[in-house]
Amino acid sequence: MSDVKMDKIMTNKQLAARLRAQARQRRRAFLDAVRALDTSLADDLLALPADEWADLPALHASPQLQAQIKLLKRVDAALCQWRLGLYGLCSDCEAPLPPELLWQDPCRQRCAPCEEKYNKAQHGVWEL
Ligand SMILES: [Zn+2]
Repeated sequence: MSDVKMDKIMTNKQLAARLRAQARQRRRAFLDAVRALDTSLADDLLALPADEWADLPALHASPQLQAQIKLLKRVDAALCQWRLGLYGLCSDCEAPLPPELLWQDPCRQRCAPCEEKYNKAQHGVWEL
């Protein structure tokens, strides 16, 4: 096996470890936030698989949790892509994302040009 190939395998493993670490950290922070609001809701969460937490309807009544729910959904989407073998591909154009972008943000979904287009669309600004 060439050195280049070896490097790539290491990088993918490191990226996977980083993604899993981020998932654990976000889920723990989320559980703490829910528990601070409502301990019985936290118990409901623990009865579910962690990748279903963001979909629990009772959580959506709490405005203070919405930012964290968004983060959880991003991490869930990235883990799901990993399982499907699609991790690290832009969700719009399917171009491989540079490993350094994934390192900065393991839940990154889009390459730089698609991210820019997406952000413009989110803000209702279209390029002519
Ligand atoms: Zn793209």
